Amino acid sequence: MYNIYMSKTSLNIIVIGAGASGLMAAGIAAGQGAAVRLIEKTPVYGRKLSMTGNGRCNITNTTPISEFSRHYHSSSRFLRHALHSFTNLDCINFFEGLGRGTTPERFSFHEEDNGRVLPVNSNGHEISVALAKWAVSCGVKIIPNISVTKLLVDNNMIKGVEAVDSDKNVLQMQGDSVIIATGGKSYPKTGSTGDGYELAKSVGHSIIPLRPALVPIETQGDLTKRLQGVSLPQVMVTLWINNLKSMTKIGDLIFTHYGVSGPLILNLSRFIVDALRTQSDVTISIDLFPNLDHPQIQREFSSYITIHKKQLFNNLLINYLPKKMIQVCCEELNISGDKMLNQLSAKELKRLRLWLKSLTLKVSGYRTFDEAMITAGGVDTDEVDPKTMQSKIVKGLYFAGEALDIDAETGGFNLQAAFSTGWLAGKSCTLRSLPLKIPQRDSSL
Ligand SMILES: Cc1cc2nc3c(=O)[nH]c(=O)nc-3n(C[C@H](O)[C@H](O)[C@H](O)COP(=O)(O)OP(=O)(O)OC[C@H]3O[C@@H](n4cnc5c(N)ncnc54)[C@H](O)[C@@H]3O)c2cc1C
Repeated sequence: MYNIYMSKTSLNIIVIGAGASGLMAAGIAAGQGAAVRLIEKTPVYGRKLSMTGNGRCNITNTTPISEFSRHYHSSSRFLRHALHSFTNLDCINFFEGLGRGTTPERFSFHEEDNGRVLPVNSNGHEISVALAKWAVSCGVKIIPNISVTKLLVDNNMIKGVEAVDSDKNVLQMQGDSVIIATGGKSYPKTGSTGDGYELAKSVGHSIIPLRPALVPIETQGDLTKRLQGVSLPQVMVTLWINNLKSMTKIGDLIFTHYGVSGPLILNLSRFIVDALRTQSDVTISIDLFPNLDHPQIQREFSSYITIHKKQLFNNLLINYLPKKMIQVCCEELNISGDKMLNQLSAKELKRLRLWLKSLTLKVSGYRTFDEAMITAGGVDTDEVDPKTMQSKIVKGLYFAGEALDIDAETGGFNLQAAFSTGWLAGKSCTLRSLPLKIPQRDSSL
């Protein structure tokens, strides 16, 4: 065992994890004059950040910051101070101020559906590289391929960390403050394997049980397999728990070989996972036409059939379903696609109407952390000061990002939480009030 990277300045900060929150925390702390080492266990930084938003990086949302709390499932009160300290507008300004690399070009962002904020003509990889470059320009020393395995604590004060390098050498690093920014347990191939929970637990923190969140859902039967790849925009799903209506949500859904996914299902999954964990009976019903009620659909059928009596059932379905769904629909309703429309019975038309308005699937399970976008549960936020992100148990220990018990809907709310908590932890751990080195947009560009 040996000591490395001992800084000679008076304030040594160690940040564990070079993801979204860790890069932000490290840059802000270094910008305040601290000597900051950012320890990353993989060879690359910001791997998950690069993948976000299907590689396009949905950094935040345009929802007014005062309404952000509605989009977090846990710890929304806890987050309030962090979100107001580094808001969604601060976030956009911050990234607009970052250089894109070799050219003087800057990032610009625009709003897409549901308030999602994404870069124009850029992607998560470029954002990730720019964030790391900014951190390094603030003075952060990024140290890859080292995994922190232990927190060094004396008398409830943080003293540093113990880590192993890729050759399995054990290293000790001393620090006045340590920020745990190790992320959650989801998509472990990105390096987020839940280490922060073990580190926090080892010094007395409680961990709220970990569950996959924003995760695809498995359903019984082979219907979804037969519909695999079909996506349905803006459908309404009703969630039934123990035969009681729990909630409805509108959004985009996609059928998979094991069940259903897409933003709508991911957002509902938080409630489905928790219901399944209590052995509840869970079903979902899909309304393919939330803007049409039953009498309207019935009237539409009647007028179409009156005009096109000699057409086939398939022709009627083309008006309502994607091509791949038509054959499956006929099989499910046990009606031949070649049946003449004027030969359809009222009962058959009713069966079609019910299928379109409430296609019901029994939920059998959910995918693992490997496919979950985030982790629900984590370090209990009751044990962390919301104004500083400092542990209430160990002085000098801070938390940022998904390691905390924070999880939100899709739409940029998870990254905003990572950036806001990272910003606040980085600022408060230095306990200094030097001006922050936040990049400013150059108006001449
Ligand atoms: C596919 C996908 C798409 C997503 N899309 C979006 C989106 O568009 N918008 C949005 O808001 N959110 C999105 N998210 C969620 C978002 O990416 C996370 O909430 C966010 O990255 C969390 O940031 P973090 O800094 O807490 O953790 P991470 O970004 O996971 O970073 C943690 C880092 O810590 C390192 N680490 C872990 N343990 C150790 C250790 N012991 N020692 C040293 N280093 C360690 C890891 O290697 C990793 O680099 C998405 C997630 C996924 C998986």
